[in-house]
Amino acid sequence: MKIEASFILSAASASDLPRDGLAEIALVGRSNVGKSSVINALVRRRVARTSAAPGKTRLANVYRVTRGGGAPFYLLDLPGYGYARAPKGARDAAAARQASAAEFEAIVKAVFAREPAGLLLVDARHPGLDADRAAWGWIRGAAGQAAVVATKTDKLGRGERIRALRAFESVLETSVLPVSAVTGEGLEELWTLIDRLLSNSRRPHNRPSPPPLPKATVPPRRPKS
Ligand code: GDP
Repeated sequence: MKIEASFILSAASASDLPRDGLAEIALVGRSNVGKSSVINALVRRRVARTSAAPGKTRLANVYRVTRGGGAPFYLLDLPGYGYARAPKGARDAAAARQASAAEFEAIVKAVFAREPAGLLLVDARHPGLDADRAAWGWIRGAAGQAAVVATKTDKLGRGERIRALRAFESVLETSVLPVSAVTGEGLEELWTLIDRLLSNSRRPHNRPSPPPLPKATVPPRRPKS
């Protein structure tokens, strides 16, 4: 199936975000969880920048994606949480961390105010992290539709992987889709999940009008005998 994907912009605040009313999926996860890699694997090309160094930018990266004959939608790649590092050379590290956390919160709030569907990415090797648990609680409340994806499953053996998925599902109380950007495992299922999230969470002005109600029908009279 043909996939088109392009990077649109990096948003620092609500006013930077697109205004054409396309459906949106927000991707959330800890820094280094593999968000950029999952985006690139999904669209089969390098639109998102990956890196081995955690604590990248505090901006939301917006990608426009079309798959097959489907309607275009936006993937909103939110900044990773969990590495509130002070910039190098910052004199007051605590203040810098606070400013960075505030910036993070501002962009995440701006994105979720648009009621996108939410996808939480968690690292398959680390079930039950407090930060992921908190993020899931929050996303579930803020997004109309939300789901969890476990990344980097290629790093786990069979037994470990079954145990990890069970642990996630019991902690987060939802099913978790295993994927690997390296082996391609789970990507087809992730597309199916994305299609489901998109079709269930169209924003009101995007929603197709409901089908007309059936006309009230009068049961046919029995012919008099
Ligand atoms: P982001 O910070 O969440 O965008 O994470 P990245 O996509 O930049 O990935 C962080 C690191 O994890 C990089 O070194 C990637 O090569 C690695 N990585 C990402 N996805 C996978 C995966 O599915 N399997 C493996 N083995 N490594 C991965």
